[in-house]
Amino acid sequence: MAALMAGSGLLLAAPANAVEGDRITDNGGAARLDGDRTQALRDALVDGPAKNVILIIGDGMGDSEITVARNYTQGASGSFAGIDALPLTGQYSTYSVTKDGTVDYASESASTASAWSTGTKAVDGSLSVDYAGNPQSTLLELAKANGKKTGNVSTSAIQDATPGAEVAHISQRGCFGPDETSQRCTPEAVENGGLGSISEQLLNVRPDVTLGGGSESFNQTAKGGQWKGRTLVEQAQERGYQLVNDAAGLNAVTAADQQQPLLGLFADGNFPVRWQGPQATVGGGDLAPQACTPNPERLDTGLSLGSLTSKAIGLLDNQKGFFLQVEGASIDKQDHAANACGQIGETVDLDEAVQSALDFAKTNGDTLVLVSADHAHTSQILGSTPPGASVNLLTQEGQSMIVGYTNAEPGSSMQHTGSQVRVAGYGPGAGNVVGLLDQTDMFFISANTLGLNRDLPALSADATISASASEVKPGEEFTVAVEGMDADWQASASLGSEALGQQDVKNGSATFTVTAPKTLGEQTVTVTGSKTGTSLSTAVSVVETPAPAPAPGPEQPSDPPAGAGGGSGGGGGPLATTGAQLPILLAVIALLALGGGAAIVARRRRVGMNL
Ligand SMILES: [Zn+2]
Repeated sequence: MAALMAGSGLLLAAPANAVEGDRITDNGGAARLDGDRTQALRDALVDGPAKNVILIIGDGMGDSEITVARNYTQGASGSFAGIDALPLTGQYSTYSVTKDGTVDYASESASTASAWSTGTKAVDGSLSVDYAGNPQSTLLELAKANGKKTGNVSTSAIQDATPGAEVAHISQRGCFGPDETSQRCTPEAVENGGLGSISEQLLNVRPDVTLGGGSESFNQTAKGGQWKGRTLVEQAQERGYQLVNDAAGLNAVTAADQQQPLLGLFADGNFPVRWQGPQATVGGGDLAPQACTPNPERLDTGLSLGSLTSKAIGLLDNQKGFFLQVEGASIDKQDHAANACGQIGETVDLDEAVQSALDFAKTNGDTLVLVSADHAHTSQILGSTPPGASVNLLTQEGQSMIVGYTNAEPGSSMQHTGSQVRVAGYGPGAGNVVGLLDQTDMFFISANTLGLNRDLPALSADATISASASEVKPGEEFTVAVEGMDADWQASASLGSEALGQQDVKNGSATFTVTAPKTLGEQTVTVTGSKTGTSLSTAVSVVETPAPAPAPGPEQPSDPPAGAGGGSGGGGGPLATTGAQLPILLAVIALLALGGGAAIVARRRRVGMNL
């Protein structure tokens, strides 16, 4: 009986009426149903919330692509151990919208990735902006702002549409690096005050784990802003990223977090695919059937999508939970190229990634695993050789399978199709994928199952600010720190009207070193979050003889004082580790004496868009 589902503890056993030696020609021999499935489905329906979400996308993986790969590798009555083992399935629509807000029936990867990443339909070619160009918050950004760890894994260039949509907001998906952005996304270039290229936005969002291809763009040089004149690799290093580019390097990484996020770039562009084989040609279906062969260019198996998924999960697993997106990109790319073996091998790789995720989810009951696609694609299993391109494959059953690539001229890029695609789920909240959905539902299912607060300004609203001293000498250095700025990736500071530069916000915290001016008097330091516009100020007096700081005693508070704006608590911030808590307390006492704490001001400005 070939139809036994793997992972049967999870799901489905052999058909109740199947006996050893059943053939598909026998009555019941091809059945997949295990008698009555009702109880198995009941058991699979688990209420949310979930601590973790792993969202796995097969790019271009329509029902046809799954069936082609299953027939070839598992046989017609077989099943994938990952993709086919998720207990709850439905379908979703994948249409996009035009700049006029009308429907676009045949979408592409940027608009579709934006749809599940943000819950908002997008225009083809754009990433995580609405049809009018307004940035929309992504699942990865929201998970991060809610204190979860985040990961982004793909076999494509990491700037490509699917991974790019989680970290970037840009009008054109091709603006990978500063060079392309200056030319083709001009208003969005850093030197023009924009959010920057996809690579630069990725560095700003600072996911804990990023694994994929696309190293080429990181060799480009920033054309504006704080990192002007330096390559993105240099920028990443200076901002604390761990950079790895091979399996040994990845293997050596034992931790990844906001202090040391992991950026693994293992190919200049997209990963080489697992298998190679005959190209579809006109009349190819009439040729003798051929099997796929291993692609000698394939990367180390330690860098397979399944391996990367396991590694990412291991680095992300933590008490507060995580959001991880994983993409098998080349089902689509090889479908475009009418390369059936490339497409099938990538589907096998994706199945291994699903198995990795399910293995983790089965032992950690608080993980929702979702598996779907961005859009359907060309390839079709045909009964005879079509007029366009086709290929004849020798399946594992020793039989011929003709696959047609017929919706574009042979030799040109095949087209996506507008069919609904499959979505499958396992774990808390997975019951929501049953039935007919839209792609945008994936955003809400994921966000709601994780219990994410989607109001970014509210997530930075309890931020506090503190200075290392209330009185400083002219020219003396002191520090100003913010904590609880959870929905901001960077913060900039100013002393009066003088800009003090920008810092990465790590776990809600950033610290600025400030040199007091030569002029005596009160000075205001203001720190502003780049994402939410949250702005906080603290006052410091420049005096000839600052009040001496008493020796540290045992009664220091470990939390920021209540007067500092809501008490995000936590200690452990940058000041706590520099022993500067007492001066902060003194500063606050002095300020309270001066005017009821009015000098510590939390002023929030809501930006006019859903960032
Ligand atoms: Zn495509």
